[in-house]
Amino acid sequence: MNKTVSNRLSLAQFSREILNGNTVVLAQAITLIESTRPDDIVVANELVEKLLPHSGKSIRIGITGVPGVGKSTFIESFGKLLTAQSKKIAVLAVDPSSSKTKGSILGDKTRMDELSKDPYAFIRPTSTGTTLGGVADRTREAIILCEAAGFEIIIIETVGVGQSETVVRNLVDFFLLLMLAGAGDELQGIKKGIMEMADGVVITKADGENVSKANQAMADYQHALHLFLESDSGWKPKVITSSAVENQGIHETWQLIKDYVSFAQSNNYFKKNREQQNLIWFHDTLQHLLRNKLNQSKEIKLKIKSFEKAIIDNAVLPSRAAQEIIQEFFGA
Ligand code: GDP
Repeated sequence: MNKTVSNRLSLAQFSREILNGNTVVLAQAITLIESTRPDDIVVANELVEKLLPHSGKSIRIGITGVPGVGKSTFIESFGKLLTAQSKKIAVLAVDPSSSKTKGSILGDKTRMDELSKDPYAFIRPTSTGTTLGGVADRTREAIILCEAAGFEIIIIETVGVGQSETVVRNLVDFFLLLMLAGAGDELQGIKKGIMEMADGVVITKADGENVSKANQAMADYQHALHLFLESDSGWKPKVITSSAVENQGIHETWQLIKDYVSFAQSNNYFKKNREQQNLIWFHDTLQHLLRNKLNQSKEIKLKIKSFEKAIIDNAVLPSRAAQEIIQEFFGA
């Protein structure tokens, strides 16, 4: 899929308008960074680089959960709480499904109706990319652009159905997991590994007949979280119940995130984590570029294909095959 952007604006115009908080230009710039056209890529890279010094000042929050858990309803209430305090909030929806299928889990319905009309909010799916690494790259760049445009809270929303959570974890300061009460066997809904990444868990739809089930789930999850090893930040994840439709637990979630930020800033983890994430970005890109380079060579590509077949047939050791490819490519 080739997305293109007519470069009506110069780099300087893009940059100036984004710094002025122009969300129409911000949206165009995000389309530009999603473009696969070589000339767009050059401009996009320059733009992100130019705006990099103006980024980094937001709180980056990852929100994940299975389809139907209530993500968009929750983000709408949460976002409105923040915009009511005159805080600028950007929601970037990372949807790994749309790169593989035509449909998209996040994009098919009208989402966050009120928030999308709020002048303090900016909502944007950033789902392009044929690989999760590509999705992560585009999202990182989109975060930088949003921060340069003055957004103070950036939400990265993703669907809790695959590996995208791990990718998103590496892009954010705080990772929030939304869960349903009593959806089958308590801990089965979401993989244990994902729970271990969470800084906070929100049990959604805690209203009406669901309240006691939600309270029970809160106790169960809080107990389960205690069993995990202490996280790198030293933070102890907390569980909250919430009803987005009754506006319960929304303020508490924001308080929890603020508590986390103070905690992580005071022990310097906040800064260290971002440094670490930039290193991951660097190494991910390096690997990504190397793989692209390898694939640009016709002979190497053919050789990789034939090794793949031989590996399936158990005729060659995978590590040996990889070494041979590298030797041939670099002539070492
Ligand atoms: P998403 O797929 O995770 O984004 O979930 P949605 O936000 O679209 O919500 C899925 C369904 O749950 C919708 O029918 C919502 O109306 C409903 N829902 C969301 N939040 C709540 C809530 O706090 N209470 C109740 N009772 N229903 C909710």
